[in-house]
Amino acid sequence: MNPIKTFPKGGVHPEENKLSSDQPIITFEIPKQVIIPLGQCLGAPAEPIVAKGDKVKVGQLIATAKGFISANVHSSVSGTVNKIDEVMDHTGYRKPAIFIDVEGDEWLEGIDTSDTLVKDITLTKEEIVERIKQHGIVGLGGATFPTYVKLMIPQGKKAEYVIINAAECEPYLTCDNRLLIEKPYEFLVGVKVIMKAVDAPKGVVGIEVNKIEAAKKLDEIVKSDKYFEGIEIQPLKTKYPQGGEKQIIKSITGREVPSGKLPIETGCVVVNVASTFAIYEAVQKNKPLVYRVVTVTGKSVKKPSNFLTRIGTPANLLIEAAGGLPEDTANLINGGPMMGKSVSVTTFPTIKGTSGILMLNEKDAQPRKVSNCIRCGKCMQACPMGLEPYLLNRLARQNNFEETEKHNIMDCIECGSCEFTCPANIPLADYIRYGKTRTGQIIRSRNQK
Ligand code: SF4
Ligand code: SF4
Repeated sequence: MNPIKTFPKGGVHPEENKLSSDQPIITFEIPKQVIIPLGQCLGAPAEPIVAKGDKVKVGQLIATAKGFISANVHSSVSGTVNKIDEVMDHTGYRKPAIFIDVEGDEWLEGIDTSDTLVKDITLTKEEIVERIKQHGIVGLGGATFPTYVKLMIPQGKKAEYVIINAAECEPYLTCDNRLLIEKPYEFLVGVKVIMKAVDAPKGVVGIEVNKIEAAKKLDEIVKSDKYFEGIEIQPLKTKYPQGGEKQIIKSITGREVPSGKLPIETGCVVVNVASTFAIYEAVQKNKPLVYRVVTVTGKSVKKPSNFLTRIGTPANLLIEAAGGLPEDTANLINGGPMMGKSVSVTTFPTIKGTSGILMLNEKDAQPRKVSNCIRCGKCMQACPMGLEPYLLNRLARQNNFEETEKHNIMDCIECGSCEFTCPANIPLADYIRYGKTRTGQIIRSRNQK
């Protein structure tokens, strides 16, 4: 394997806590009812095209994308639409969703549900991008940005590298690691599909060295099978946020994405592991995005697990299957501890972006006593974007958005490294996120004038 690489600026080393990394993926039983939220991507919620009483099959389109940065939504089960109503989702707000009562498990005609590996990529690059769009594939690392948009290379630009973000640098999460170990061929064909879609000669899988079993397995396959020529496995140092888009590009290519620009400026397209697997299934098996692997974990959880879960499965069922909600749970998180968001109900439906359900115990979730900034500069050293978090925090609190913009708040990737490292326990990321949202609004309204 290649020598280990990393990004040079900032980063932190939180406890890894990969409690479920040895737990094979378990196909979770189909629930009696799924609740499929219409808003499952970064952009506008999809528009329902079914109504109460309609019969649906697995993989059937039930809501269509509304706008450029929006994604189609498909039924993850077969059965009858019970209602279209609001549900308290992972954001803690009531949002529209399609409730489907499950009857059997009948898939839409034309979807290949077999385990046969399909290596021949017969679709043209335009057809691949269109299939990925139609089948509702979004960034499954949590960002939920529609993947087809990433694969539309602007005129005058060239994709040299497809970089697969297999860092899985968030503590606790192991869903990507398990997919790589258990479905390496499907995953690697997915990489070839993306390379064809964007016409890139090279594919690089960037993987942290704490996932050595997966890295070795992938390396053996790409070196022993000519079909995978052009793909290499790049071990990366275990350092958070190694999986940040800009960080992984820097680690692998040494190139820097300029402030306010997209990865394609550096000739790179970055896709997450689970999305790559979903792309394989969409393009080679004609299967829309109807399930994903979800890590259900926590130090007090009896059976930390990785479940292959139909989209819309209520989280409480997964929690039960992992041994139930531990009594000392102080914080329930959708995602990992660094970038995930706290959830107020256990019944929220899992969505495409649900990579993990984390139950942090009282000891780990205990709020730490906040004191005044001691100007130690540790937050600056930890910031992978070279920002001044103590300053951005102060400016955001003062609602001084002219200055937050001047100090590049829009470059913040919301990784939380500054907050993690702050000895005064100042909730830096919260204020900076607020400042970024407000500054972004001001910039957008200025650009519209
Ligand atoms: S949250 Fe933003 S400011 Fe803080 S370390 Fe990450 S990128 Fe830097
Ligand atoms: S790490 Fe905390 S205490 Fe140190 S300079 Fe930054 S905000 Fe201040």
